[in-house]
Amino acid sequence: MKRLKLLSGAFLLMAMLFAGCQKQTHSIKEETTAGERSAVKSSSRVAALKEGIEERLNRLKAGQENRTITGTRFLLRQHPEYRNLLLNALNDVPACNDDTKINLWLNDQLSDWTATVVFYAIETGMLDYPTYDALIFENSGAGQVFGAQGTYTQRLTKTFKDLKRFWDIESAGIVMVAMHGDMLLDREKIIRTDMALYGTTEEDAGAWADLIIEIINAFPQYRMGNHPIFTFNAFAQKGFDPGTPYEPIPDKIVMGDGILDGFNAIGYGDVAPQAILAHEFGHQVQYQLNLTGGSGPEASRRSELMADAFSAYFLAHSRGQSMNWKRVQQFLQVFFNIGDCSFTSNDHHGTPAQRMAAATWAYGVVEAAQKQGHILSAGAFASMFDAVLPQILNN
Ligand SMILES: [Zn+2]
Repeated sequence: MKRLKLLSGAFLLMAMLFAGCQKQTHSIKEETTAGERSAVKSSSRVAALKEGIEERLNRLKAGQENRTITGTRFLLRQHPEYRNLLLNALNDVPACNDDTKINLWLNDQLSDWTATVVFYAIETGMLDYPTYDALIFENSGAGQVFGAQGTYTQRLTKTFKDLKRFWDIESAGIVMVAMHGDMLLDREKIIRTDMALYGTTEEDAGAWADLIIEIINAFPQYRMGNHPIFTFNAFAQKGFDPGTPYEPIPDKIVMGDGILDGFNAIGYGDVAPQAILAHEFGHQVQYQLNLTGGSGPEASRRSELMADAFSAYFLAHSRGQSMNWKRVQQFLQVFFNIGDCSFTSNDHHGTPAQRMAAATWAYGVVEAAQKQGHILSAGAFASMFDAVLPQILNN
């Protein structure tokens, strides 16, 4: 029995997403990789270590068979853009375009992940700790560093300020925080996150933390937690108070190192951080103006397409980022295809064509607005968007 069904399912989905397509997923599961065999052969220490890890893993699991997520108050309210925890319809994943640069890049990053490496990642649930640590405990924007090397700190900080100035909402309380995979080596952070998510005792959480740290240290494939798969994510969270003993969680945008580094690696470092942040900020606008419009696939699709439009309007507007539209389009072509392998983009984000139509529509509004020299109010922009949504969906 897996430790946590829901999140393990999410990891399987991730593995599928980041391996590109189903066929790669199957190959990753096969116990046939040369790297693994040679690793075992070259060092009996590794074999002994694996035995030790598995024994402890089994013992821990036996002690906590009913270990399921109890911290439902912490489940992401807004699905993350690049990783949908709640998707269970794996069978519905459409044929994906594994020729997109980002899929190829991610596939390449996972090329040395053996079945053992995947197995431990799933069984320990390690993928989820960076996300939930950032969601629950990173509640101040002060001193945040973005990107594993801090590459995007200055630019994202500036863009965030620009966004707050651009849209006419109460934005002073919105915080932007980073998500770093190397928290997987931080015992205290793993413990606090484990206790919050699973309702474990400090002692049990400590045992998990020790095991995770040992595994991360033992397998170089995890890159000391800095593998992009741990943080290939960005999301917007509406503020809420989880109650004692936690601090209230402010309206928040979380930017993972992995997604920033990934788009930089494939040549979109000039536009991706701003565009992704602007999309997430669009969700904060929606929260504040009550524009999310309920639940279900249609509401979700509308929210996502509207966030794309908010983003494009800001990126192209002379008083926003004043970016070259051709360049923005080039990035969006890649960005919108990310959904193809990850979840049912028809239901959740709109198709790539619909998303591009939403962005293109917003660009047209920019041109009209600039003649009048002003920035539309967020509410007016959203109303205009809703009026054209049926046409956008025809794409
Ligand atoms: Zn979104």
